[in-house]
Amino acid sequence: MKIKEIFEKKKTTISFEVFPPNKYYSLEEVYSVIDKLSELGPDFISVTYGANGSGMRKTAEIAEKIQSKNICSLAHLTCIGASKKEIEHVLKDFEKYNIENILALRGDPPKEYLNLDKGDFKYASDLVDFLKLKDKYCIGGAVYSETHQENNDLLDLFNLKKKVESGTDFLISQMFFDNNNFFEFLEKLKKLEINIPVIAGIIPITNSKQIKKITSLCGAKIPPKLQRILDKYEDNPEALKEAGIGYATEQIIELIASDVKGVHIYTMNKPEIAKKIMENIARIRETF
Ligand code: FAD
Repeated sequence: MKIKEIFEKKKTTISFEVFPPNKYYSLEEVYSVIDKLSELGPDFISVTYGANGSGMRKTAEIAEKIQSKNICSLAHLTCIGASKKEIEHVLKDFEKYNIENILALRGDPPKEYLNLDKGDFKYASDLVDFLKLKDKYCIGGAVYSETHQENNDLLDLFNLKKKVESGTDFLISQMFFDNNNFFEFLEKLKKLEINIPVIAGIIPITNSKQIKKITSLCGAKIPPKLQRILDKYEDNPEALKEAGIGYATEQIIELIASDVKGVHIYTMNKPEIAKKIMENIARIRETF
């Protein structure tokens, strides 16, 4: 099923993200995560694509595993540094596994080709153009409600408009911790007549190392309310986990009450945390 069809039926979608195996984490473990996440009844589950990493070859296979649970899958695909031939090759794999939904991404280029000259694609919009020619995919794109680190606000919005006009069907946001910034961002998109569904990306903070990594990688702002939690429970992992789940739950409840089109939970392959959140919003979910 195409994700854009789910938007037609559901007021707000709830989805999860998982990552493929790596040297610390086996395919069997990923499959076990999917088994557990499937029981929570998400509208779709997305699988990341490690740019140049070993996990990239497993994205399609994992997406198929998700589909075998009767759950819609979304396969991430990065294009930076790739030739058209290489992308064609990946798409053959996607076809083999009946993948209909692709999150079209640029990816983060390794330092040696930060000039973006290697490969046939410079930006995600180039990949969207390429996928659009196939005329069979539902295409998602990434979006940054607190601005992509490489650009300023206005330029980033201008580039986003181009990506949407290339044929992106929906957007998923970078993780954020301040709903107000997201709501202001949605207003900006309205003014630019970007009217496709925008899904809010939420990550439950469950350990103090994680927050340092996230903020250094994507620059998400930490509001004072969350900072107080992090300071207070930094040395108490169990308390921090509970508080992190509580904080994410509060964010999600407000987002749903504000009629966002979807909430995407970055699960970090921790189904027990997704389960707690889903339990916290069980009655709310029954209303849509
Ligand atoms: P783009 O949309 O191409 O934007 C990248 C930058 O280029 C922006 O600053 C933009 O303003 C600028 N730009 C865009 N078009 C133009 C243009 N025509 N001219 C000049 N500048 C332009 N990474 C992975 O490696 N694997 C994953 O699975 C993955 N999943 C992700 C999922 C989500 C929901 C998100 C939000 C990010 C994900 N990423 C992933 C990270 C992503 O690859 C990086 O954030 C990357 O830096 C940007 O990718 P993009 O698709 O947003 O790029």
